[in-house]
Amino acid sequence: MPSYVITEKCDGCKGGDKTACMYICPNDLMVLDPNAMKAYNQEPNQCWECFSCVKICPTQAIEVRGYSDFVPLGSSVMPMLGTEDVMWTCKFRNGLIKRFKFPIRTTAEGAANAYTDLKGKDLDSELLSTEEADGHTLKIPNA
Ligand code: SF4
Ligand code: SF4
Repeated sequence: MPSYVITEKCDGCKGGDKTACMYICPNDLMVLDPNAMKAYNQEPNQCWECFSCVKICPTQAIEVRGYSDFVPLGSSVMPMLGTEDVMWTCKFRNGLIKRFKFPIRTTAEGAANAYTDLKGKDLDSELLSTEEADGHTLKIPNA
């Protein structure tokens, strides 16, 4: 299910030019209603459910329903972003709460370069970046 904003919790990022959720959404879906000072997902059916806006929201005002491959359907999932990890809190329908931590990258915000690891690769090639030139062998890290 796409992201949705719990309006009671959203403070419009205190009136900044670009809210945190607007900044982070890879699909430019989040917008701010300047009158209500509340953000919303302007096109839910385009949402990738990537959780980026959920993680960055400073007031934990955005939710995305968790996938059934990591929590039972109907659970709520809320990440809390720390400096070195994300603490995920999963609340099941029966009230059971489980938490787990997952490390985050250490690259400074805005400093990531997706092409660094692809030096020497022919980016115009039809092959995947991990695919050998003979087109048959896939190198899967740690496989
Ligand atoms: S990041 Fe959170 S608080 Fe800021 S505008 Fe978006 S939903 Fe509201
Ligand atoms: S879950 Fe991802 S794609 Fe969907 S609105 Fe949030 S940041 Fe955008």
